[in-house]
Amino acid sequence: MQKREELYRGKAKTVYLTDNEDYLVLHFRNDTSAFDGQKVEQLQRKGMVNNKFNFFIMNKLEEAGVATQVEELLSDDEALVKKLDMIPVECVVRNYAAGSMCRRLGVEEGIPLTPPTFEFFLKNDELHDPMVNDYHIVSFGWATEAQIAKMKELTFKVNEVLSKLFADGGMTLVDFKLEFGLFKGELVLGDEFTPDGCRLWDKETNEKMDKDRFRQGLGGVVEAYEEVAGRLGLML
Ligand code: ADP
Ligand code: UDP
Repeated sequence: MQKREELYRGKAKTVYLTDNEDYLVLHFRNDTSAFDGQKVEQLQRKGMVNNKFNFFIMNKLEEAGVATQVEELLSDDEALVKKLDMIPVECVVRNYAAGSMCRRLGVEEGIPLTPPTFEFFLKNDELHDPMVNDYHIVSFGWATEAQIAKMKELTFKVNEVLSKLFADGGMTLVDFKLEFGLFKGELVLGDEFTPDGCRLWDKETNEKMDKDRFRQGLGGVVEAYEEVAGRLGLML
């Protein structure tokens, strides 16, 4: 597979075309951003850690029956993935209250959510990713009702599989964000699952092991990601 020209440069990854129109190269950069790109820093090793972490998690999800974009790890910081027609919404499941839910609803961080909640956000940095519901998504033509139902089903399935995986490593999966796209008409998990897009707390101490360390200036960001990987048995 030959890498061709850059298709899109996002805040943390660069997407390249390949000589096969069905596949893309995702390059995980060290750039780390928060607050819709207002805070940006380069964190050594983060691209490598997230690329390998994402490949590991997506393979676990494939084994559990979730169709994902992943094809092949190409290098430390690059992976070959299916080229998806991305649905421009983020799917967020929460097992405990944190982040924007606390700000929006005035609830305390760490409250258990039974059952877990599901939220859609429109991918739009300028508008600060506003929350949208099923009606907005169908009315604006971002996805069909059937695709919405499937995104919810798959996101809850991911929650089930990964909550167990992280619990076995002594961590609590607090919340996470997924993005889906279409590959030859099939709904497929795209983008990434890394500590950049989820919240993980140590089960005993509740210490944050995810991007909140960066958002809140706690330091030791990549070191925490490496600790998460190590606890899952992933050799980086
Ligand atoms: P952002 O666009 O939010 O700044 P990134 O830096 O992670 O985020 O950029 C990656 C971009 O590539 C995102 O817009 C994402 O929707 C898109 N993308 C991720 N996976 C795929 C895929 N398999 N096929 C097509 N586009 C993808
Ligand atoms: N998230 C993400 N990208 C976004 C927004 C959120 O990966 O553009 C993740 C975030 O890391 C967290 C979950 O989705 O794990 C819920 O995020 P929240 O709505 O609480 O927003 P935040 O306060 O994290 O910006």
